[in-house]
Amino acid sequence: MPHKKRHDHFNQKLRGIVRYATKHSVAFKNIMESAGLKPADIQTIKDLEKIPVTKKADLVELQKRNPPFGGFEAVPIETLRRIYVSPGPILEPGEAEYEDLGWTQAMYAAGFRPGDIVMNTFSYHMVPFGMQMVDNSLRQAGCIVVPTGVGNTEQQVNIMKSLKINGYCGTPSFLLNLAEKAEEMGLDCRKDLNLQVAFVAAEMLPESLRSKLEDKFDMRIRQSYGTADIGCLGYECGEKNGMHIPDDRIVEIVDPTTGKQLPPGKTGEIVGTTFNRIYPLIRFGTGDLSSLTDSPCPCGRTSPRLVKILGRVDQVTKVRGLFVHPGQADEVASKFPEIRKYQVIVTRKEHKDEMTFQVEVREEVSQPEKLKREIEQSIRDVMKVRGDVQFVSKGAIPEGAKKIEDRRIWE
Ligand SMILES: [Zn+2]
Repeated sequence: MPHKKRHDHFNQKLRGIVRYATKHSVAFKNIMESAGLKPADIQTIKDLEKIPVTKKADLVELQKRNPPFGGFEAVPIETLRRIYVSPGPILEPGEAEYEDLGWTQAMYAAGFRPGDIVMNTFSYHMVPFGMQMVDNSLRQAGCIVVPTGVGNTEQQVNIMKSLKINGYCGTPSFLLNLAEKAEEMGLDCRKDLNLQVAFVAAEMLPESLRSKLEDKFDMRIRQSYGTADIGCLGYECGEKNGMHIPDDRIVEIVDPTTGKQLPPGKTGEIVGTTFNRIYPLIRFGTGDLSSLTDSPCPCGRTSPRLVKILGRVDQVTKVRGLFVHPGQADEVASKFPEIRKYQVIVTRKEHKDEMTFQVEVREEVSQPEKLKREIEQSIRDVMKVRGDVQFVSKGAIPEGAKKIEDRRIWE
């Protein structure tokens, strides 16, 4: 869908779900009323800013006050098939009919096709991910599910071999466990096993681990992102250049303190809205950080993409009005093999924020001025804020020091 058409389509869907949720979800009705809003006030995605963000952390408290679901459910409890329990504890109303498309789009983009035999190694107990989301989505994608769950690696390797399983769903680290177990059992992952595609989630996927596993099995691995509450919020396509937003979600990147939307390229909290009519979460704050891009993707999908999950909101520091995160500082440091250790110090001088990258180098650098300029350029590119590099002697940065230390004193 072209951008303009897409925008109109989502605005229309948004108006529908806001009207529906105000009518059927007690919690959402209260949110609207306390903000002085009527459904007619929400016409476009931009208008979403008027609705306060519901933070994941608030959900625990709201559920305690109004059990079991805090009033966020929009159907009578007796119509549900299942109730799930996530850490917190947070209760989730399960599907009546499973109609979400997010994870299914993720699986299709990863390369799953009808008739694939897929083992689902996510847990089927308590939490909604393995059973409700992954299992149902595999069925929607036309795959045959082998619900193996977690653990029993040796047995799982045997099942992979005997059933000629070609798809894997699970964490990247468990896939590595399976590869190591298979090798221990004297198997060749490429010749004796038939894995071709993997859908991984619930863990960071370092590129080094991805290429190691892809090479070991001669397979393709794609990752996705979401939460137990709201489902899929992003998935990788063949291009591996960010995570496309599924077509049954709205994702905003917002300033975590004000809830206002930030433009593409700016880092902020990922806030999701679903069109799910059983559990219609509208403006759900995930507590995770990322930025959006709407630059065209060669795969042809026109949905915007989450660039990268950068970490948690509770670890950010605001410098000159912009959020900086330890993940960004790591990215800068990873580009310079000369850096042995670093710490970012934020201070304030004459009412202006200053950011200093203290760096311990591995050994004497021949052209320290050149290195300093290069690191400073990289700080501007990655963190979008100017920072000064200061070389310090070995051992000057204490063990276990915070990656970003805020030394500002507010008076
Ligand atoms: Zn793409």
